[in-house]
Amino acid sequence: MLEIKNITKKFGEKTALDSLSFTIPTGSVFGLIGSNGSGKSTLLRIISGVYKPDGGSAEIDGESTFENPRIKEQCFFISDYPFYYNNSTVKNLAKFYKGLYPSWDEEKFRKISSLFPLNTKDKIINMSKGMQRQAALILALSINPKYILLDEIFDGLDPVVRQLIKKLLMELVADNDTTVIISSHNLRELEDVCDHIGLIHKGGVIMEKDLDEAKLGIHRIQAVFNEEKDESSFEGLNVVNLRRQGKMITLTVKGDSKEIEEAIRAFNPVYMEMLPLTLEEVFISEMEAVGYDINNILK
Ligand code: ADP
Ligand code: MG
Repeated sequence: MLEIKNITKKFGEKTALDSLSFTIPTGSVFGLIGSNGSGKSTLLRIISGVYKPDGGSAEIDGESTFENPRIKEQCFFISDYPFYYNNSTVKNLAKFYKGLYPSWDEEKFRKISSLFPLNTKDKIINMSKGMQRQAALILALSINPKYILLDEIFDGLDPVVRQLIKKLLMELVADNDTTVIISSHNLRELEDVCDHIGLIHKGGVIMEKDLDEAKLGIHRIQAVFNEEKDESSFEGLNVVNLRRQGKMITLTVKGDSKEIEEAIRAFNPVYMEMLPLTLEEVFISEMEAVGYDINNILK
């Protein structure tokens, strides 16, 4: 289990993280969402033990991650701006990591390298940013880390490569019980990989959700009624949004789906349908319910 406990990080006068806490269960795929400057990269650097927090701690199974060699062995971080030496190639880094990480898997390395459209003998420094990300990922996956931290990994990658990466990450989690933390400023990008989402804004946690739970707890209903209806008609239901298009009313309601359905049926709708919500819609509704406009947060 990874615990982020009351982490504060300052750069001079600027507070990048402000007493931030999360608990990330082992084997989960955790999406760290926030706009540019919200503190995602800083948090990943603290978790991976690169930065020392000014307050609080990041702990893996009760041990602080900061400059902890035992944790460095199990944890791999792909920064948004990875650093490579002039002569680094995927091939010679593979040799280096093989000596460094006991869990290095040579066969997996060979297999994964062949799936990506890059030459392992090319200098990484001459590759595009997207190619560099792929290079880093080939190496990271071959290590079979217990924790993998990916900073904006999908940025600038085409959909085919994105899908491939998602699939390989899922395999890593299934085979190795790896905990994955992916930062992104784009909720849609993470929708089909993450099982937990943490939303940060100005260095603080705004929301943390188990996705299945989040999707279960909020529902959309379209209905047509004979009589006029407004918000006050649905007292007793936790309506977070009501839209009207002619006679059609679309309600976004928090709560148990069965209870909501029964309550709406009691109004004798002429037509009624429960609709699924996308992750983005769930978030928009959840955020609205606590007084935020997500469009101002995820810019
Ligand atoms: P994100 O990754 O979500 O875009 P960052 O963690 O990079 O956000 O940055 C959070 C805040 O901390 C920003 O205001 C940024 O300007 C500031 N910051 C990050 N790193 C440094 C640094 N090395 N020196 C000074 N300020 C920094
Ligand atoms: Mg960043």
